[in-house]
Amino acid sequence: MKFKEVNIKTLASTNASASILIVYTGGTFGMVYDDKGTLVPFDFGKIRENIPLLKRFNLKLTVISFSDPIDSSNISPDNWIDIGTIILDNYQQYDGFVILHGTDTMAFTASALSYMLDNLGKPVIFTGAQLPLGAMRSDARENLYTALEIASTKKNERPLVQEVCIFFNSLLLRGNRSKKVRSSHFGAFKSENYPILAQAGVIIDFNEPALLKPRLDNRKLKLNTHFDDSITLIKLYPNINETMLERMLTIPGLRGVVMETYGSGNAPTDPWFVNCLSKAIQKGIIIFNVSQCVGGKVIQGRYATSKQLEDIGVVSGNDITTEAALTKLMFVLGDENSIEKVKKKLILPISGEMN
Ligand code: ASP
Repeated sequence: MKFKEVNIKTLASTNASASILIVYTGGTFGMVYDDKGTLVPFDFGKIRENIPLLKRFNLKLTVISFSDPIDSSNISPDNWIDIGTIILDNYQQYDGFVILHGTDTMAFTASALSYMLDNLGKPVIFTGAQLPLGAMRSDARENLYTALEIASTKKNERPLVQEVCIFFNSLLLRGNRSKKVRSSHFGAFKSENYPILAQAGVIIDFNEPALLKPRLDNRKLKLNTHFDDSITLIKLYPNINETMLERMLTIPGLRGVVMETYGSGNAPTDPWFVNCLSKAIQKGIIIFNVSQCVGGKVIQGRYATSKQLEDIGVVSGNDITTEAALTKLMFVLGDENSIEKVKKKLILPISGEMN
């Protein structure tokens, strides 16, 4: 059995203000100390004992748990498809979805889901924790409670948030704009190139103009599950050498590269470097240029050190994050064979991941 389903009896079982499906995939969130003092994933069947306050929510709550919860460092497109399929199968029955996920790759999964869930008209809120539920100062409960509240917030009878987000440590961020920037602070995520969607204090203050425009039509949710993993990531560093670059660009079957460049999209101008990239592009390999900076954007041609990239046909990633770029490249290549069409799709936003 791949998944387990648990219904949580809340006080509001008969008259709930909203119904929320929690999908538990694993990560630090769901760990408790066993009798030997070791952190182990807890059985989500016992969620009520571990988070007793849940029963006081005025919500109908159901949990679908991965039978084998994973550390998110082991995530793969198959897991993204599992999460997407759970949402698709349960879409009509729930007002919103909260996905409990490890923080390490949360930004990748949230980006992937934002592309996969076409016509999404309900909130899909990812959250997790830096300290496990079983630890005294854990951030797990606060993150979950607020994520549930956000997922159940409505305006004019419709969900206020209709996109894939990450909620963490009081901030609601667009999932495909987020980055894990800290491994030991509670404020683990940042969205440098896009405004915060909501800030949770005494009230949850939504930045409504920044949210994706609400869907007023009732178009059917569609799940796209195509990913092509024949891509790689090349991060530039001073003294990167020809042999290394050449080897990476001639990996058999390679179809695309996310290239992390300096500053606003700059790279060496040495002829060997430009030739290597140019040869790859002529063979049909897509090179997608993203910046190593956490904020700002690629502007090919701004400096002489990026003009050569524009000239040979490197695709500008504008202000996209590496996480959103890698998942987008896999997603677009999974659906498209024509190189020209892939290039066109890469520069157009699918779900608010770039300007
Ligand atoms: N390694 C863990 C994970 O990503 C860390 C976390 O949950 O925060 O699954």
